[in-house]
Amino acid sequence: MSNNRFESIRTVISRKDIDISRPGNKISEYFASNVFHRAAMQKFLSDDAYESVVTAINKGSKIDRTVADQVASSIKSWAISKGATHFTHWFQPLTGATAEKHDTFFSPTGIAEGIEKFSGDALVQQEPDASSFPSGGLRATFEARGYTAWDPSSPAFIIDIQDEKTLCIPTIFVSYNGEALDYKAPLLKSAHELNKAAVDVCHYFDRNVKKITATLGWEQEYFLVDESYFYNRPDLVVSGRTLFGHTPSKGQQLEDHYFGSIPERVYRYMVDFETEAHKLGIPLKTRHNEVAPGQFECAPVFEEVNLAIDHNQMLMDLMNRVARRHKLKVLFHEKPFAGINGSGKHNNWSMQTDTGKNLLAPGKTPKTNLQFLTFFINTIKAVHDYNDLIRASIASAGNDHRLGANEAPPAIISVFIGSQLTRVLQRLEKSIGKGKMDEQERMDLRLEIHKQIPDLMLDNTDRNRTSPFAFTGNKFEFRAVGSSANCAEPMIVLNSIMAKQLLDFKQDVDTLVSTGAKKEEAILKTLQGYIKKSKRILFEGDNYSESWKKEAKQRGLNNITDTPRALDFMVDKKASGLFSELHVFDKKELEARHEIMLENFIKKIQIESRSMGNMTVNHIIPAAIKYQNLILENINNIQKISSDSAQWQAQEEIFIELAGHIQILYKEVKAMINARKKANKIKDIRTKAIAYGDQVRGHFSIIRYHADKLELLVDDRIWPLAKYREMLFIR
Ligand code: ADP
Ligand code: MG
Repeated sequence: MSNNRFESIRTVISRKDIDISRPGNKISEYFASNVFHRAAMQKFLSDDAYESVVTAINKGSKIDRTVADQVASSIKSWAISKGATHFTHWFQPLTGATAEKHDTFFSPTGIAEGIEKFSGDALVQQEPDASSFPSGGLRATFEARGYTAWDPSSPAFIIDIQDEKTLCIPTIFVSYNGEALDYKAPLLKSAHELNKAAVDVCHYFDRNVKKITATLGWEQEYFLVDESYFYNRPDLVVSGRTLFGHTPSKGQQLEDHYFGSIPERVYRYMVDFETEAHKLGIPLKTRHNEVAPGQFECAPVFEEVNLAIDHNQMLMDLMNRVARRHKLKVLFHEKPFAGINGSGKHNNWSMQTDTGKNLLAPGKTPKTNLQFLTFFINTIKAVHDYNDLIRASIASAGNDHRLGANEAPPAIISVFIGSQLTRVLQRLEKSIGKGKMDEQERMDLRLEIHKQIPDLMLDNTDRNRTSPFAFTGNKFEFRAVGSSANCAEPMIVLNSIMAKQLLDFKQDVDTLVSTGAKKEEAILKTLQGYIKKSKRILFEGDNYSESWKKEAKQRGLNNITDTPRALDFMVDKKASGLFSELHVFDKKELEARHEIMLENFIKKIQIESRSMGNMTVNHIIPAAIKYQNLILENINNIQKISSDSAQWQAQEEIFIELAGHIQILYKEVKAMINARKKANKIKDIRTKAIAYGDQVRGHFSIIRYHADKLELLVDDRIWPLAKYREMLFIR
């Protein structure tokens, strides 16, 4: 037998097995070839119809029925010319995955005859059987209906599964009464509110700006494992993470993976999914190894937030599908392997004007720099005021393993801005006295601030990798988002708190102006006040250190390390006031969502707990007992030829150690099941979630500890589960 126990099941893939040839020499030749983008639309639509769709996209206005019919017929022609036979409304329910229900274009017109049909109605609205999607009690069962509605701002696309092509129409998903049941509907609302508030503030500086979009560039981390190992691990199959497994003798200590070359098998997989992504118009740009063995990352060029999120959801789905061809499995879980870095999804966020200006990029003139500072400081104030809500937006069972652990940003939300901008803020804070500013003072301050800002971009060394929310030159990077998350949740929160903050800012400035201050003075003074008020959220030190936890506590910043408690801040008075003021969620919707998230959390822990119990009792303990029998047999045989107990002393010790671990394991699994039973009786969903998080999950580490000890003791050839050393190093 080879020293790899699973050599026989390990997938052997040769170059010949998978054709990864790209459809052109240059990516630009096939980029977005499967997307009904503006150029395609223009080709297939009448000028009038094209105009009204573009206006609808730009202004969010309604598309009337006759235009919808035209658009539908042109999308159909385009899709059929590409070989599509079916269409689907594509949406993002709160299950975390994407959903589709395929219908064919074909409709019979008589016996043995038919035509391809796609009407405006079918484009605009559908009624999927929604009763099986989570709704948090929003839909009583008798009206278990919801419907999907076309989002014209995200272009239709064609997915190609083994040469079978389906047209996908991005849609929102709402209940029969119009309550949001998905991620996209509230996201669009939040982006709309941000647009309105930001345009108003922008007009202090530039009257030409008509629209502002939030921009998002995500960085997707993931692990890859050989498919055969994946299916050997029931825990990976049901929960996406390993519930057992001893850290290999070589993990990431050597830090050689990050800079190492990409293994060839992985490289071919990357090229394959990138090609598919490019055809779908997903602007993937970078690929590289990540810190842990078996861990990788990809990132696109940033886009408007709604499109960026659709693209991230499409990509995750695509990566799963393409992996099958390579006999690989992608793990998007935040913590698939204990003792090894977890995965995140950095969300790079900014705002951009329709005149092409990034509002978080330092400017070239004193005036544009004041605009930069305005948006920059308002972001800090927003994060300060709503830091608990931001924390809530990234809460999930998976992310609980990262936040607060030693590799990911902690569960304390703080903002890093770098030493230069720290100086700028200090200067601004100190320089304005209580009284009126005279013209000279204002000019001096304006110039001085301007002088300090321009070389900002050059200072690339000034990067704090430990901060959960860091300014990185021309955008904020929200790093605490989990790798499996739909970015919409944190983006809804960021857009909303920023919209609210900008509304307040406008009011504060206008109030000062109405009492006689000059506009620029009013802006500077308001910003000065904000710096004073939100200082405690700024932190430049090591976020992973113990001392930060203490300091944060003194500053009154929360450190909430578990999901159910973090989610409290999603529905508290402050959050619900914010969301209803902006019409992003009403109270009922918010509470329904909260319930769904708690339910998701409970289900995840329940599945993990069941899997853990089964694996312990059905896989791990039997392996240990088998080994005990081998030892007993051995001792018996030795005793036949020797009466010297020293000859079997080691065996006896191993036997006893095994017995000890088996006993504890059996007892702990029982206790865990009891904890589950108790928790299941709890009616209140929040209390139940806390019981699952604290009591049920509380047993995991003990069970794991003893099972992992057994892994070290039991004969390698008997151990039934693929080990970390096997799974982590892809060949
Ligand atoms: P890192 O050093 O963190 O890898 P990069 O410069 O590679 O940073 O950028 C990471 C992501 O940030 C990319 O997706 C990039 O497109 C995105 N990004 C850059 N500028 C902006 C912006 N103005 N708004 C949103 N995302 C941005
Ligand atoms: Mg980054």
